[in-house]
Amino acid sequence: MMPISSPSADRESAFLAPYAMRSDLSAGRRYSEQTHPYRSAFQRDRDRITHCAAFRRLSHKTQVFTGDSGDYHRTRLTHTLEVASIARTMARALRLNEDLVESLALVHDIGHPPFGHAGEDVLNERLADCGGFNHNAQALRIVEQLEIRYPDFPGLNLSHEVLEGQRRRAKSLPPGTQGQPLLEVQVVDAADSIAYDAHDADDALELGLLTVGDLNQLALWREATDRVSERYGDLNGLPLRTAVIRQLIDTEVSCLIEVAESRLSEFAIQSVEDVRNSSALLTAPGELAAKKRELQAFLFAEVYRHPDVLKQRATSTAELGQLFDHYLRRPERLPDFYQQIGNEEGRARAAADFVASHTDRSAREAFAGL
Ligand code: MG
Repeated sequence: MMPISSPSADRESAFLAPYAMRSDLSAGRRYSEQTHPYRSAFQRDRDRITHCAAFRRLSHKTQVFTGDSGDYHRTRLTHTLEVASIARTMARALRLNEDLVESLALVHDIGHPPFGHAGEDVLNERLADCGGFNHNAQALRIVEQLEIRYPDFPGLNLSHEVLEGQRRRAKSLPPGTQGQPLLEVQVVDAADSIAYDAHDADDALELGLLTVGDLNQLALWREATDRVSERYGDLNGLPLRTAVIRQLIDTEVSCLIEVAESRLSEFAIQSVEDVRNSSALLTAPGELAAKKRELQAFLFAEVYRHPDVLKQRATSTAELGQLFDHYLRRPERLPDFYQQIGNEEGRARAAADFVASHTDRSAREAFAGL
């Protein structure tokens, strides 16, 4: 192995906090590789993720609303980019490893099948007798097995720390793994939640599923609106909405950074080891957590269970279920790569991997061609 001395390593030594995960201290990759002359291990992970096919396909996958609802709302890709953006802000403020944070954020939803959680539920039902289907676990299958891009190894051969973060999401850590996630992992979890609090409210307003008056019942929204009014006076319509959405993100991000800084100092966190042995450092404090729960419960009832969304969901699940059943009955119609998976891991898993790799659009086309 080449000695680690690169612009990235020097930069990390100069800027990162002692409790940040440094790339030169990574536990490495499953298949060993030469270090890169000027990209850190986590920069390479980020690049491998953004260049893979499953990442590009996120642009045509549902976050909450399918493409039938227009083109204002978030897709799985733009959600992912918002998470990465928020997470990097928090990481820089706390002097964490932004490259690792970016990798974790960009990969976190890469395992989603078409049609969001509706698609996931159908595949999970169909695979009930053979391990089920979960988008977090599917992300690991994609990056460890299904993406074929390198002659030397299957998957993307990502660094241990990126895989560990995703294994925590999938609840599939090796037995005996102890301690808290790295702070970089905690930041991405927090950013994911902040992103959807804000963008699901924004998308639902744009689509007319909610009104600002509905959201004013909720403490988090009302307080953000009050802050906006203090600064700008009386705003209405789109200027009010965009200002409140910005304020919501800013309130949550600022609160979490402040809480993390005070816990880091209170518990005298000086190393990655200390992070592992501490309690969670980046969770929303009680008052904010309660307000987030109130907002999320409201969005669940009023948006995710809105009759229009449920109608889209019913159509999507019926189509995706039939597509899966078709490939289960006719495995010879699967591409060779997936037939091979069928030989090794069973037809159901192969059909699920293939169907899950589709975008909303290509799943619709495949269904129409049955
Ligand atoms: Mg997400």
